Amino acid sequence: MNKQVIPLYMEHQKLFEHKAIVTKIGSSEINKKNYKWIQLDETIFHPKGGGQLSDEGTINGKGVTYAHKITLDKNRVDQFEILHCFEEEIHFQVGDEVEMQIDESKRNLYSRMHTAGHLLAETVGEVFPELEPYHGNHDPKDGYVKFKMLSEFSREKEEIIQKAQSKLLSNLTQDVVVSVVQLPSGMRAIQIGQRSMPCGGTHVQHLREIGPVELTDASINKKESTVTIKYRLE
Ligand SMILES: [Zn+2]
Repeated sequence: MNKQVIPLYMEHQKLFEHKAIVTKIGSSEINKKNYKWIQLDETIFHPKGGGQLSDEGTINGKGVTYAHKITLDKNRVDQFEILHCFEEEIHFQVGDEVEMQIDESKRNLYSRMHTAGHLLAETVGEVFPELEPYHGNHDPKDGYVKFKMLSEFSREKEEIIQKAQSKLLSNLTQDVVVSVVQLPSGMRAIQIGQRSMPCGGTHVQHLREIGPVELTDASINKKESTVTIKYRLE
């Protein structure tokens, strides 16, 4: 019987090396690239998703350049498989025990970006309660959070950036722990201080690990009633 992958990265965000068993082997075209891939019984590789980039690393020394998530049931967030994708030849067999290793510096960068995105979403909601976050992208080269206007919102770009930046600065220096919790619904969530939000990504464990965050732009789309705020780590 097929058993789904156990996503160890969700509970153990500082696990950068681990052994697992190969459960399936294949090849596919993903994002217009041909990959050989393997599935494992458990993994430390965070796949691309939720605005966060895929982890990179190696399995038995072979380069994993992409971790691809396949949703098995679109009504259930916990039903998925992960393909560990290689661009080079691989010679694994089902049942092999393999050694995973992920690129720690990239993972840490993505975790900092991702957590900064959560904090930005919260911060903007504190400063401008008429804005509600609904989408984020946490690519270090293109980080942004999008907000819906819940009511009339007529601030200028400069005012949005200035007010959000100053509140963000003070929120970033608070002594606040970031932890993984389970919501009553059984969904996995992260908790920053008193606030929790459902999320399947990786995060830092304390706000001070994020470091300085700079808001680089705010664009207001009156027609769609949205505001997009761009950010980057300094
Ligand atoms: Zn998250």
